[in-house]
Amino acid sequence: MTSKSESNHHSAKEVADLDYMYDIVEIFHSVQGEGNRSGIPHVFVRFGNCNLRCEWCDTDFLTYQRIKCQDIIEKIESYQCKNVIFTGGEPMIHNLWPIQRELKLRDYHISIETNGTIPIEEGLIDWICVSPKDQLYPNTKIKQRTGDELKCVYVGQDLSMYDDLVSGFTHLYIQPCYIESESVAWNGTNFALTEALVKENPQWRLSLQTHKWMGID
Ligand code: SF4
Repeated sequence: MTSKSESNHHSAKEVADLDYMYDIVEIFHSVQGEGNRSGIPHVFVRFGNCNLRCEWCDTDFLTYQRIKCQDIIEKIESYQCKNVIFTGGEPMIHNLWPIQRELKLRDYHISIETNGTIPIEEGLIDWICVSPKDQLYPNTKIKQRTGDELKCVYVGQDLSMYDDLVSGFTHLYIQPCYIESESVAWNGTNFALTEALVKENPQWRLSLQTHKWMGID
């Protein structure tokens, strides 16, 4: 039985969660184009800011608005879709518990795309995709060493750099670095090299950014 004070406490916490402010670049409904959940429609919540500055990053994560959790939830609920992905920027630099609690109250499945530099607390996220950036930041230690998928962008690095990480993940993906501003030939060479790498290292699977081919976000 829930006491009166407990239920008051619970509703007070809910109000606080809905009032929590987040830096949001965009919220949109699309089909996941990469990795293991590729092909599944999701609502993407792109958070502002990142603690890294990768040279191939194609996200303008510095243009964002401060939006109340309640308004974010309303936007998410406007889509007929029960899968949410927290992406960025780096979503883990934000306190994700308030929005997580609100989404879980409404029965959403929550995924995250993270650079792995910030550990994820137990129970926060249903599907964890870590995309390490060690090839650019060799001294930045990966703190989130377990998860559902490890997705590495191939820029010519030796896969042995992930040897001490792979055992913590269920699925391993290598994805060619696609840079829109580069020529078709440059990107094509990168695709071919990544394909060859997967043939030599079959424990890794090829992940393609299929949403870019479809011309969707
Ligand atoms: S970690 Fe991701 S969001 Fe951050 S700079 Fe690198 S590619 Fe961009």
